[in-house]
Amino acid sequence: MTVLDVRDVTKVYGQGGTAVHALRGVSLAVERGDYLAIMGASGSGKSTLMNILGCLDVPTGGQYLLDGTDVGTLDDRRLAILRNRRIGFVFQSFNLIPRMSALANVELPLAYGGVKAADRRQRALAALDQVGLADRVDHEPNELSGGQQQRVAVARALVTAPALLLADEPTGNLDTRSTTDVLHVLDRLSASGRTIVLITHEDDVARHAKRVIRLVDGRIVEDRRTAPVDGPPPGLVGLR
Ligand code: ADP
Ligand code: MG
Repeated sequence: MTVLDVRDVTKVYGQGGTAVHALRGVSLAVERGDYLAIMGASGSGKSTLMNILGCLDVPTGGQYLLDGTDVGTLDDRRLAILRNRRIGFVFQSFNLIPRMSALANVELPLAYGGVKAADRRQRALAALDQVGLADRVDHEPNELSGGQQQRVAVARALVTAPALLLADEPTGNLDTRSTTDVLHVLDRLSASGRTIVLITHEDDVARHAKRVIRLVDGRIVEDRRTAPVDGPPPGLVGLR
């Protein structure tokens, strides 16, 4: 089953002589359960592609189907609903709300989704448990390490049970130890069947994925499978 189906997508910022061709015809199909790393130098189009995959922006040309829905046919309201229900985002800068507990931060997407308080709390606690933070649920972001904050952000991304987890340089602001912790969480989520797209410019991070694509100047120049879609991710092989 194909979760992401990107067909000859282009993205142009601006017009005329100052136009920037950020994506120059990208085609990509991602199966359910895959763990994809998108690599490329700064300016190669990684974030532009992530914004399109996450329905935060629309392509200039081409087509994008998410879970079989042609995103180009949706108005802003439907796009927002699709984004809230089907996609969990993790950003380099965590984007947690200050002075709100880890639990309240993780409950937030459920509150927008209209889930009742008791149910919200239970699901948020389960998500925090999944990322190994059951003992930190009442801590506020400034009382947590960078790695713990990013794990809260991963729990927040997961709590809606999205079809896709999209992470843009999730370890970009973390030290080695915290990077290991966050990648281990992603590896375990992958092993449990989640579809993950990870954007990174670091080989050590990309090594955790089952498939690696490389962008140069808005084009895919390499597409390499390193582990089967339905098997455990490379980081967990031999560990279980
Ligand atoms: P990466 O994430 O790989 O560093 P980006 O997708 O952010 O690359 O950027 C790709 C190209 O598009 C770059 O040349 C960048 O300067 C340009 N770009 C990105 N966002 C915008 C924007 N909002 N307006 C104009 N140009 C942009
Ligand atoms: Mg970027």
